[in-house]
Amino acid sequence: MNNWKKNVRKVVPYTPGEQPQCRNIIKLNTNENPYPPSPKVFEVIKKFDSDMLKKYSDPSAGMLVDSLAEFHGVGRDMVFVGVGSDDVLGMAFMTFFCSEKPIFFPDITYSFYDVWAELFKIPYEVKALDEDFKIRKEDYLFDNGGIVIANPNAPTSIEMKASDIEEIVAANPDSVVVIDEAYTDFGSETVLPLVERYDNLLVVRTFSKSRSMAGMRIGYAVGQPEIIKAMNDVKNSYNSYTMSHLAILSGAASVKDKQYFQETLERVIRTREKYAGKLKELGFSMPDSSTNFLFATHESVPAEEIFNRLRDKNIYIRYFKKPRIDNYIRISVGTDEEMERLVEALKEILS
Ligand SMILES: *Cc1c(COP(=O)(O)O)cnc(C)c1O
Repeated sequence: MNNWKKNVRKVVPYTPGEQPQCRNIIKLNTNENPYPPSPKVFEVIKKFDSDMLKKYSDPSAGMLVDSLAEFHGVGRDMVFVGVGSDDVLGMAFMTFFCSEKPIFFPDITYSFYDVWAELFKIPYEVKALDEDFKIRKEDYLFDNGGIVIANPNAPTSIEMKASDIEEIVAANPDSVVVIDEAYTDFGSETVLPLVERYDNLLVVRTFSKSRSMAGMRIGYAVGQPEIIKAMNDVKNSYNSYTMSHLAILSGAASVKDKQYFQETLERVIRTREKYAGKLKELGFSMPDSSTNFLFATHESVPAEEIFNRLRDKNIYIRYFKKPRIDNYIRISVGTDEEMERLVEALKEILS
């Protein structure tokens, strides 16, 4: 009998989207940005002296924190950085959700939330989205151990009004409300300015989507100094040197290039709107997207079949075989050229 097995932590891991390592596919399955990061990032990487690698990186990632503090007009003690927003969110779960009461999040949302809750043994209750896949703010006004909401929500692409989020934050002064703004740069209203007024609000962002840096793994959170300190204390009880030299340098370079950032966002948004229209012409319907992806269902062909047949044509999108959303596909917005090839493939599949 292998007795160590009974003392192993039982987990059902998060299933990330496939990352096929071959090149001649169209990859619209994990909401990456189709455009490269800022040329300023490229310059930093080109100039990087590998001799630096013999030393540990700055455990406070000061240069990156400072650039983000300046970008958002907040103090440097109001920014926490981590290895992608997954790291930041995981750290927030560990830091703030330690009460006996359940934390709340929607039934259909980023599928890492329940995984972390299980991993950290945090009791949780999911709140059903309404029939239009919208978050019902009333559900979050009851006593709880914490709240986490992705806004805009994933995979629905739907945004909640900032005033509704403010109501939730204001109604829950005794719990931390985490707002995951992974997609907010693509056009939704941010609640980041509210951190000045609410000490229980934590806003989490990522470089993976809007900044085209998924592979560099950078995420961050903004909140009042006390909430940020609490996270740093937990982080420094676990792993101090989380951000590599290159992540710190290239992340800071990205933040400083505001013009490129803005232009790239606009390109993605233009493509999104154009191809939302084209998909509707093919018989798809979808909510208005405030993100870099479309959450679509077809009037006659089942989502799973579309997903499989696109895959046969080397076009990868995302399909979730889950209650309520199992007839939907999620399509990341690629370049116009990629989207055009998607539309051509869909025409063949649907005919
Ligand atoms: C992509 C995503 C994340 C994680 O992004 P990182 O690459 O870990 O920064 C977090 N939340 C949501 C809702 C996402 O879609």
